[in-house]
Amino acid sequence: MTCASPALTLDQHTRPLGVLRLSLTARCNLACPYCCPDSVDPPVMLTLEQQLRLIRVAARLGVHTLRLTGGEPLLSDRLMPLLAGVADGRRTPGDPLAGLRDVALTTNGVLLSEQRAKALKKTGLDRITVSLDAVDGAVAARMAGLRGGRIAGEGLVQQVLAGLVAARDAGFNPAAGALKLNAVIQRGVNDDQLIPLAELARSQQMELRLIEYMDVGNRNGWRMDQVLPAELMVQRLAERWPLSPLGRNDGGTARRWRYHDDVSDVGVVASISEPFCGDCNRLRITADGQAFTCLFAAQGTDLNPAMGSDQELEQAIRALWQRRSDRYSEERHCKADPVPRAEMAYLGG
Ligand code: SAM
Ligand code: SF4
Repeated sequence: MTCASPALTLDQHTRPLGVLRLSLTARCNLACPYCCPDSVDPPVMLTLEQQLRLIRVAARLGVHTLRLTGGEPLLSDRLMPLLAGVADGRRTPGDPLAGLRDVALTTNGVLLSEQRAKALKKTGLDRITVSLDAVDGAVAARMAGLRGGRIAGEGLVQQVLAGLVAARDAGFNPAAGALKLNAVIQRGVNDDQLIPLAELARSQQMELRLIEYMDVGNRNGWRMDQVLPAELMVQRLAERWPLSPLGRNDGGTARRWRYHDDVSDVGVVASISEPFCGDCNRLRITADGQAFTCLFAAQGTDLNPAMGSDQELEQAIRALWQRRSDRYSEERHCKADPVPRAEMAYLGG
């Protein structure tokens, strides 16, 4: 396959394909109740060769950013060989993978040891987003679904903090946006952690992304009254540290702000209160090869029958993107009955 400039692949709302989120496993070493991961992987998983082919074909169709996710991607023994294969392609003139501008990973940070962080950097990973929903041990335990209360939660927070240090020491520079912190905020559960999380991120010159609690999947018992709207999150932060708006990048998920003292930026992902379907450019592919064009979809498109050749795969992905018309978040309030949906850890966020 040669590297012509990637074609612009547009959907029914003229949204281009730009980001591929590839889930490496549906399993996790935590059990956050707002996510509810699977305890086993699907019976038949994509092979390494198939995953590389998918990424290459997606790059030909315009994907410029690859995000590896899960479940917990650091549990997958596929992660390092996959990164190595992608890095090889990115270095090869004429390979569509050379068009990838950004390769990122989302992780809960528990397994982010010094050795692992160095290996990730060496194998061509550009950016890491670490998820942590609380600094207080008891709240962290609750958000991560840990038995063992405060003590277990304090252990988790220490592990994740060590992971952040390991990532920074390995060369993922937070001030350059290569290391970020994600936190889901659930009203009445961890919203008292907003300021402590912001303090933590600021102390490391790291961007914090505060995510509204979303109604993904069927298992988390989502309720609207547990959503803290982004506007209120920003208000609470601004009472402590004045903020200037930076806006939301085209196709981005976060509306961002800069602290007046320039220490770092902070972003809010307001999928519920300020949906951003209008320029959504994300394709999600699960560990068993199901393609989802919306986080809130009930069903994906099985790409396995198209795995015979690059051409078949390209045709299948182009066709599914071109017929895409979903904009669930914008329509959420008009839907009467909730429909069954795929789970977050299966989809990869
Ligand atoms: N295990 C990794 C982690 O936690 O970062 C990667 C997978 S996780 C599904 C990806 C992101 O989705 C995490 O930042 C997590 O907090 C977020 N997430 C999971 N369930 C969510 C929900 N119901 N609402 C909002 N964000 C959610
Ligand atoms: Fe695991 Fe991430 Fe889901 Fe938490 S959010 S259970 S860490 S996959």
